[in-house]
Amino acid sequence: MRGLSSMRRFRLTTHVLRLTALLTAAAPLTAQRHDALHYDISLTLSATDTVLRAVVATRWRLTGAEPVVVDLDAALTVTGATVDARPVRWQRRGSTVVVPVTGRAGREVTTTVSYAGVPKDGLIIRGSGASRTIFADNWPDRARYWLASNDHPGDKASVAWQITAPSEYGVVATGRLTAVDTLPAGMLRRRFVNSEPVPVYTMVIGMANFTVTPLSPLPCDTGCVPVSLWTAPEDAQGARDGPFRNAAAMIDVFAGLFGRFPYGELRHVQSTTRFGGMENATAIFYDTRAIHEGRLNEATVAHETAHQWFGDAVTETEWHHLWLSEGFASYGAALWAEHQGGDSALAATMRAAREAVMASPVVERPILDSTITDRMKLLNANNYQKGAWVLHSLRAMVGDEVFFRGVRRYVRTYQHRNALSRDFARIMGEEAGRDLTWYFRQALAQPGYPVLAVSTEAEGGHLIVAVRQVQKKAWGLFRMPKLEIMLDDRTIAVDVQGALTRVATHWTGEAPRTVTVDPHNKWLLDVRGER
Ligand SMILES: [Zn+2]
Repeated sequence: MRGLSSMRRFRLTTHVLRLTALLTAAAPLTAQRHDALHYDISLTLSATDTVLRAVVATRWRLTGAEPVVVDLDAALTVTGATVDARPVRWQRRGSTVVVPVTGRAGREVTTTVSYAGVPKDGLIIRGSGASRTIFADNWPDRARYWLASNDHPGDKASVAWQITAPSEYGVVATGRLTAVDTLPAGMLRRRFVNSEPVPVYTMVIGMANFTVTPLSPLPCDTGCVPVSLWTAPEDAQGARDGPFRNAAAMIDVFAGLFGRFPYGELRHVQSTTRFGGMENATAIFYDTRAIHEGRLNEATVAHETAHQWFGDAVTETEWHHLWLSEGFASYGAALWAEHQGGDSALAATMRAAREAVMASPVVERPILDSTITDRMKLLNANNYQKGAWVLHSLRAMVGDEVFFRGVRRYVRTYQHRNALSRDFARIMGEEAGRDLTWYFRQALAQPGYPVLAVSTEAEGGHLIVAVRQVQKKAWGLFRMPKLEIMLDDRTIAVDVQGALTRVATHWTGEAPRTVTVDPHNKWLLDVRGER
């Protein structure tokens, strides 16, 4: 997602950082439970009241003999539960529903939970009559306010919907529309199916008076992805001609870089999300005012579109590995900028990202920061902009061919599954044919960035170039293979390692007048006395 204003309100605490090997050890924020395989969700939406009526059937693969625990906010009243179609005695435990099941690990059971009530959050119901809107907004774990689920990104599942709503509204949901049934009293029941497993935080619905604008031929031929724009009628043209004018082309560009689009369809939807954009699988939600006021930019559309591969199709197993979602999506937007505007546009995007990292208090902590327990605080410059830099420097180090081949293999290997940072690191190391563990440890488990002081001294036909690392001690030292240093108009490559790196290069005449460190912006670094 993008554009949450609270990103700026991150408070620095004085925890002593534990630079544990988070690359290989997951630190769960909630415990894993049984494995949800598929949700079958029946909902009734109203034009007038704010009561949600729902039945959620979940197929589980049991992981042990414990009861099934379903997340569902206490504001919703449970009216019944079944296991394999037989009514059972369920129990309310805080914001969960406990359903007794019998069986051993590996057995599959189907539970249903029926409930009704006014959601306190997660499902945003506004207005009435023609202006009524209902939109889900789940991230990070607010689905539980309206959707009985195992509300954790580590448990992905496929989802099918039966949504009963007044016929005068349009309805969108994660997945593809498969059937529309006409019911009495002016109601329609729409069925949607998403057969690829997605995280619960991207399982959404929307109901509004939509104008639907096709952005690619609908239906389109084999191999092409239907892309459409769902907006308020008065915002349709401005959105189509503005931020979404390249939305279909973006899919093709990203498919070329990352591999096939992971789903059957993509909708861009004007909604009431609290985020500037939220990357719900197959149906990206954007802040309604940003579209209405013409403030939504193409970079956000690119960011959310890239999330369909990173975050949605390949999902971080644990919240603390959020950079696998946000860092990749941020770099996706940079790649789109590069596609549109070339090297200078990419450089400008990465410079802006560097400034954001350096200005943020989270720079004092590593990207993989297990001290963060409030998930909203994971939406910080480390997971977004510094995450993008992790990829940008990696690409510079291994070259475009290896980098994109590795990224495509990572997507192919983990698509519709979960991954941790170590999984990406392993694949990139294999593709590069060398050990990159040191790089990922430095990039993900070390705070800060290198600050360099470079001096030169001409002596007897040589120039001695000394690169000193002068950043705070707490940030540690960094390794930068083949760091480019431009001496007047000549560029040398220095393998920087340790507090002081000295190299000699052939040189005649006086010491160079200008010394430019990293002229092609390949590393997230600062230079004392420059920049
Ligand atoms: Zn994002």
